[in-house]
Amino acid sequence: MTGQSESRIQSRWKGNAVSSSDVLIIGAGAIGSAVAYYCTQQGLDVTVVEAGKPAGETSSKGEGHVRISDKTLAPEIELAQYSLSLYRDELSEQADYWDYQLRGGVMVSSTDASLESLHSTIAKQRQLGIEVEMLDVQQLRELEPALTAEVAGGALYPDDARLAPPKMVTRLLELAQQTGARLHTQTRVTGFLRDGERVTGVQTSRGDFSAGAVVNAGGPWSGQVAKLAGAYVPVEPRRGYVLVTEATEPRVFHEVSAAEYLDTVSSSEADLQGSAVIEALPSREILLGSSRERMGFSAEGGKAAVDLITRNAQTLFPFLQDVQIVGSRFGFRPYSPDHLPIIGPDAAVEGLWNATGHEGAGAGLAAGSGKLLAQVLSGSPPDLNLAPFSPARFISRGERG
Ligand SMILES: Cc1cc2nc3c(=O)[nH]c(=O)nc-3n(C[C@H](O)[C@H](O)[C@H](O)COP(=O)(O)OP(=O)(O)OC[C@H]3O[C@@H](n4cnc5c(N)ncnc54)[C@H](O)[C@@H]3O)c2cc1C
Repeated sequence: MTGQSESRIQSRWKGNAVSSSDVLIIGAGAIGSAVAYYCTQQGLDVTVVEAGKPAGETSSKGEGHVRISDKTLAPEIELAQYSLSLYRDELSEQADYWDYQLRGGVMVSSTDASLESLHSTIAKQRQLGIEVEMLDVQQLRELEPALTAEVAGGALYPDDARLAPPKMVTRLLELAQQTGARLHTQTRVTGFLRDGERVTGVQTSRGDFSAGAVVNAGGPWSGQVAKLAGAYVPVEPRRGYVLVTEATEPRVFHEVSAAEYLDTVSSSEADLQGSAVIEALPSREILLGSSRERMGFSAEGGKAAVDLITRNAQTLFPFLQDVQIVGSRFGFRPYSPDHLPIIGPDAAVEGLWNATGHEGAGAGLAAGSGKLLAQVLSGSPPDLNLAPFSPARFISRGERG
């Protein structure tokens, strides 16, 4: 199987020549599907190869928060705001397909010390353009009456939303296919085709595919995928659990998190971390998240994470002690060592592009990441400066492994 599309676009972006209209995307998760959709919107000829099935990995294992509230790094805030605006406006016709809801995020501090730390985070976030309202105990209680009595204060982030990531993947791929994209499932990339140093396609378990540009959207496996091409992408799996309750009466009305969640997200610790992140689904089940630990792709020893999540959730919402937990699942977030996604042309291997490293925010950041990468692949200037996300930043720091 060899892609027959002719190269027809000649353009340059920051010195990286894009000399083809045909793009092959490795991975059909949230990121690969968003890249595929936006590439077709740019008129590019798109092939997606997926080792398993669409949204078969991380993108069906997590929650669906589309958040601005947990962002503290300027480039990620810019990307999150851009992505949020796409879900809210440009993609609004798709909202029902993926259960998009703009519900607002509530951050809860249980102690004075935690509240003080939340205040300083908020001061920084406001400087970086995030809209957030401080809440006293009474206001918190009005928004979330079922919260624990042990609260010191909190904040409301009106722009926080949610969606169902697997449904988003399905719909984005459907739209891409309606515009000509080809999707090959059960097709694992095992190597790369080359013309000299340049990548010109992939070898897979189902034959070779040629392409003018290859996008590595392999999620937590993107480091391994890059290695096959002789490239370096320092993404590692960061395991996370989520629990699901039985359906209940509506008692959680926003995307609710303990303020400590901000520390968990930005931490680089390998050991088990967890803080409460609670989300009610349209089906009236409640998702209880989450944990973080770096232990490779191990499926061993999840009990500690499950116990921690249960404890944290019941502390924040005591009524959950009487609600049955009916399921748990875990996935591997694509962890990037500096907590910023990796988006753009590979630093060392011409013809290879990366769209990965979104860790615990890939569903929320998918639309923005996909659109920006599609813009540069088609030779248009991107709506945002992609320099902070450049894969080259790790090479220039001498972190090449
Ligand atoms: C517990 C938990 C909670 C989370 N909560 C949220 C949240 O609330 N909001 C949010 O925005 N994000 C959340 N996330 C993070 C989010 O799920 C991820 O950032 C996102 O799913 C990453 O998408 P991806 O497309 O990069 O990776 P994936 O969904 O893993 O997709 C990568 C795909 O690449 C394929 N692949 C890999 N290697 C190959 C190969 N050699 N050949 C072909 N195909 C290959 C894989 O099969 C896979 O399907 C959470 C994650 C977890 C685990």
